[in-house]
Amino acid sequence: MTDPSESPVPVAVETDGPVETELLPGDAVAELEASLFSNYKRAPLAFSHGHGARLTSTTGDEYVDFLGGIATSSLGHAHPRLVAALSEQAGRVLHVSNLFQIPEQSRAAELLCRATDGTLQRALFCNSGAEANEALIKLARLWGYNHPGPSGPRFKIVVTHGAFHGRTMGALAATGTPAYRVGFEPLPGGFEHVDLNDLEALDTAIDDSTCAVLLEAIQGEGGVVPATSEYLQAAEQLCRERGVLFLLDEVQTGVGRLGPMYGFQHFSVSPDAISLAKGLGAGVPVGAMLATEELAAELVPGKHGTTFGGNPLAMRAVIAVQEELEQHGLRASVPVKAERLGAGLEARIAARPELRGLRGFGLMRALLFEEDRAADVAARCLRRGLLVNAVRPNAIRFLPPLVVTEEDIDEGLARLDLALADVFDAEGAAEERS
Ligand code: PLP
Repeated sequence: MTDPSESPVPVAVETDGPVETELLPGDAVAELEASLFSNYKRAPLAFSHGHGARLTSTTGDEYVDFLGGIATSSLGHAHPRLVAALSEQAGRVLHVSNLFQIPEQSRAAELLCRATDGTLQRALFCNSGAEANEALIKLARLWGYNHPGPSGPRFKIVVTHGAFHGRTMGALAATGTPAYRVGFEPLPGGFEHVDLNDLEALDTAIDDSTCAVLLEAIQGEGGVVPATSEYLQAAEQLCRERGVLFLLDEVQTGVGRLGPMYGFQHFSVSPDAISLAKGLGAGVPVGAMLATEELAAELVPGKHGTTFGGNPLAMRAVIAVQEELEQHGLRASVPVKAERLGAGLEARIAARPELRGLRGFGLMRALLFEEDRAADVAARCLRRGLLVNAVRPNAIRFLPPLVVTEEDIDEGLARLDLALADVFDAEGAAEERS
């Protein structure tokens, strides 16, 4: 464990007190946001460059990145092989459209399907997680249309409360947080929400109009809430018995984050189709839907498409990530790193009564607090040079790049210690004084 006193946390001001990173002043933030929509609540912080799991701010402070652009920078920052692949491709051809063969797309599809160990055989590319889920929803609808029930086309998709599937209208309708939907209704119908890990509710919700069940194996935006293996396996079994599709949103759990290439491999289930994005392109915007040969056959020409989907630049990113994961040993290193992060967090839970527990697997974790202090802790982490996010009022989330090193993990945990002390011990000291 790195000694916090030796931490290279940048010193903005020479002081005997805790060292702090420098944030942008209000007028600089106002200028940066002047022409932008105000739909994001951004920290007063910008980055100039990064390397591995470290990011350097425009004010010159180095941060340990335990957020990875929300599970997206799988290869960290400025990964040499990704940089070389993208530069090489940009110097030849960026885009041609799906009116033509795109060998890079074929190669990326081959690698992604091969990594499913025979579960899924076809890939369709798009540009984001929401788009990948739209594709999944359309595929399920089309399958239900072509395989009607006793009362006509099957269209209903059973989804879960607390799930997050994206912000486009279909994905939003599937999303299980009502607050995100308010103001945008009417949304597309045909989605029924049930509780995650409640098999009986799932059983009840599946009826003659149902074409699919769509689940997140770990609800990421919902607070890193995992489904149990028993539930997922029983849900798959139920889908098989009732003749409906079993679909997984792997936008956050996919591409090595839990250790195996896909989350479904961690949970030992075999979905009919999955959606991917985030870490898939390591920061290059790209999404994908993988499906069985039989299901993929539903999407005949004219039924779906997107201009940018699968363009050579994005495909070079996908290929670089896959090669790095499988051929250069990155994926095999994930469980070791995950163990170190998990053990480090468990040790802190044991040492601090303010910490309630840990959720998640692999490099997708949430640290839970007894009280709603996540925003305070995340804010102090920022000042201590550590990037995390307050995913729930009582939980901060860790989604480090898969290239995070043991040293990064130790350093990040040391910075977390400082932040926890800032929030909880300073408070205790203040209480003692009063
Ligand atoms: N699905 C899941 C599980 C996600 O976590 C997210 C984003 O957080 C999405 C879908 C939407 O992805 P995007 O923001 O790329 O549209």
